[in-house]
Amino acid sequence: MSDPILELRGLHKRFGTAVPADDFSMDVDRGEFFTMLGPSGSGKSTILRMIAGLEYPDRGSIVINGRDMTRVPPWDRHLGMVFQNYAIFPHLNVGENVAYGLRKTGSSKADARIRVEELLSLVGLEGFGKRNIAQLSGGEQQRVAIARALAPNPSILLLDEPLSALDEKIRREMQDELRNIHQRTGTTFIYVTHDQEEALTMSDRVAVLNAGAYVQCDTPKEIFRYPRTPFVAHFFRGCN
Ligand code: ADP
Ligand code: MG
Repeated sequence: MSDPILELRGLHKRFGTAVPADDFSMDVDRGEFFTMLGPSGSGKSTILRMIAGLEYPDRGSIVINGRDMTRVPPWDRHLGMVFQNYAIFPHLNVGENVAYGLRKTGSSKADARIRVEELLSLVGLEGFGKRNIAQLSGGEQQRVAIARALAPNPSILLLDEPLSALDEKIRREMQDELRNIHQRTGTTFIYVTHDQEEALTMSDRVAVLNAGAYVQCDTPKEIFRYPRTPFVAHFFRGCN
C-alpha cells in the first residue's frame, strides 16, 4: 500500500529556452530513500528547488503530507536541505552550526545541548561540538550540514549532490553513512545525483530523468535489469 508523503502533479518550469520540468509528476512514499538521477542539465536541481519552495512552478502542484504546498514559502514547508557546497557557517563552531537548525523549535538551552549531541552522534561526529569548521575535512563538513538539516526533525530531507565534491574514498564512506542515517531516523530522503552507481547502491527507488521528465521510476534492481528505454539502458551501461 502506498503512502505518499510527496505528490508532484504536472509540474512545469521554464527559464527562457530551458525547460527543467516538463509536465513532471511523481510520488514519493513516506520513509523512502528516493533518488532522482539524470545527466547534468536534466532538471534535477530545479525540481528539488521547487519541492523546497526556492522556486515556484509555472504550472502544476506540490502536495506534502496531504497539504497543497505549491505556493507556500520554504520556511513553512518543514523540509531539510543539504547542498553540494555545504552551506554551513564558517564563523560558527560545529555545535553552533547544528544548534542553528534548532532555532525555530523553541527548545530550551539544556534540551538544545542534548539534541545537538544526539545529532552529532547520529552523523558520527560525537565530541566535535567545539571544533572550528575550518579544521574539518570535506566529508566532516557535510556531516555537519546533514546534522543541522535534520535538527528540526523535517518530514523530508532533500539532498542535492551532497557527495559530489568529495573524493572517491570519502564518498563511499559517506554513502554508507547516509544509508545508516536514513535507517536510524526513518525520515524520507529525496536524493539528487548524476552518479548511476550511487543511485543504484543507495536508493529504495530511483527516478531516471531526462530533459525535465522522468523516463523510468523503479527499484534499482528493476531499472538495471529492465531498462525501459534506450536512454536508460545507455545511461547505465558500464555499471555492474
Ligand atoms: P541538473 O540539476 O539536472 O543539472 P538544473 O535543474 O540545474 O539541472 O537545470 C536544468 C536546466 O535549467 C539547465 O538548462 C539550466 O541551465 C536551466 N536553469 C536552471 N536554473 C536556471 C535559472 N535560475 N535561470 C536560467 N536557467 C536555469
Ligand atoms: Mg543540479
